[in-house]
Amino acid sequence: MKARGFRYYRPGSLKEAVHALRDTGPDAVAMAGGQSLLAALNMRLSNPSLIVDIGDLPELQGIEEVDGVVRIGATTRHADILRNAVIGKRVPLICEVGSHIAHAAVRNRGTIGGSLAYADPAAEWPAAMVALQASVILASPRGERVIPAEQFFVGLLETALESDEIIVRVDVPIPASGIITGFGELARRHGDFAIAGLVVCTLIDKHKLIDPRIVYLGCSEYARPAVNMMRALDQMEIPLSNAANFADALRKDAPSNDVPGLRGETRQKIAEVLTRRVINSLERPK
Ligand SMILES: Cc1cc2nc3c(=O)[nH]c(=O)nc-3n(C[C@H](O)[C@H](O)[C@H](O)COP(=O)(O)OP(=O)(O)OC[C@H]3O[C@@H](n4cnc5c(N)ncnc54)[C@H](O)[C@@H]3O)c2cc1C
Repeated sequence: MKARGFRYYRPGSLKEAVHALRDTGPDAVAMAGGQSLLAALNMRLSNPSLIVDIGDLPELQGIEEVDGVVRIGATTRHADILRNAVIGKRVPLICEVGSHIAHAAVRNRGTIGGSLAYADPAAEWPAAMVALQASVILASPRGERVIPAEQFFVGLLETALESDEIIVRVDVPIPASGIITGFGELARRHGDFAIAGLVVCTLIDKHKLIDPRIVYLGCSEYARPAVNMMRALDQMEIPLSNAANFADALRKDAPSNDVPGLRGETRQKIAEVLTRRVINSLERPK
């Protein structure tokens, strides 16, 4: 199938971009790397009358460290994030998580802003940004607003973005000293979207988890803190024994339906095994 006809506009500034979105209304969409949008257009799941190409806007580019925060411009490509020295040093979890996104060709075009805006429940960046307590900075003709990643994702492929808003950047606080992070996912093949996965940020004191923050991917409709699991695992001694039963908490945080080719129960079991594996690897040297 081919995309329906649309107008294409390449603005010279962020201001021009948000005004074009406002003037056209919900019938206009921004395009960054095009890795999700072009497929949606070709399948006619999205039929905009105007595409605003924001891929080259200088205001949306770059990575810098400012006052304990790593700022990542929205159109920064996955591949550029993975090889960035500041991120590698300050928030290495981002590189660990991002290396599981798709294949090199997609990582060379796809952007972090596009991934957050698309809000695929199995995508890596949304889960990582919620786990790291990042903030998403949005621009519109009305100015800028800052929204915690935890409030940005509101449903399946749904975010708090208004139709005339563009993600400008994401601000990731550098984890406080003592915070230990972990990640694990299972995909059918490396580069496929994950069947299930999780991102963990926690303190550990005398082999006990303290105030763990856990976000699953692929297991719920959108990226959000797994509050029941976080409560169940708080103060738990690691390594977790095989007898440690947190299936009930997991069922609440990651209620899984059957989908063609995968039973919900199986996904739940995978999430349980991955949780134990990731938590038990936290104290091992990486
Ligand atoms: C074969 C394949 C495999 C993939 N596997 C994975 C995977 O394993 N894990 C994973 O996480 N992702 C995966 N992806 C998705 C990939 O990471 C995309 O690049 C990403 O989801 C979208 O980024 P983009 O820059 O291409 O956005 P686009 O496709 O340009 O846009 C996607 C959506 O976001 C909106 N948008 C884009 N940028 C902004 C912005 N700054 N502000 C507001 N709205 C914006 C667009 O309007 C559109 O609705 C895969 C994609 C493909 C094609």
